[in-house]
Amino acid sequence: MVTAIFEAPGAPWVHPCLRCGACCAHYRASFYWAEADDATPGGVPVELTQVLTPHLRVMRGTERKPARCIALQGEVGVAVSCSIHPRRASVCREYPPSFEDGLHNPRCDEARQAHGMAALTPADWSGFEPDAPPPVLTPPRAA
Ligand code: SF4
Ligand code: SF4
Repeated sequence: MVTAIFEAPGAPWVHPCLRCGACCAHYRASFYWAEADDATPGGVPVELTQVLTPHLRVMRGTERKPARCIALQGEVGVAVSCSIHPRRASVCREYPPSFEDGLHNPRCDEARQAHGMAALTPADWSGFEPDAPPPVLTPPRAA
């Protein structure tokens, strides 16, 4: 279970998104259709998307409420990862967790609060080590 990684004594700092996933289970993740791999090799797996408009595709599961992206693995608020992290759409890459780069993202707050979690604060990034190896798991959204 991935939660074991987080609970191990002396475990390293964990990216907050790996314990969250709220935005992937709250917002519609839609993007320009040509980001999918039927148009762009190595792009978003088209089978995980559906047509939204003539110009947009959407990650399956996020077109409805309650939303949950088909690519989101794990339990929201406990331990999650994105199964297509290297191939996620621009809408996912360009969604910063609040204060990761020092800037507040109210949409991150909204998603977390919708799932019963407190908004991130600058203190949530105090353990971040720029030179640390990348996480074993793949956080949803930015990272
Ligand atoms: S980051 Fe991954 S799990 Fe989250 S909405 Fe994007 S594709 Fe889905
Ligand atoms: S960007 Fe915010 S809402 Fe999305 S997974 Fe990260 S902490 Fe959670």
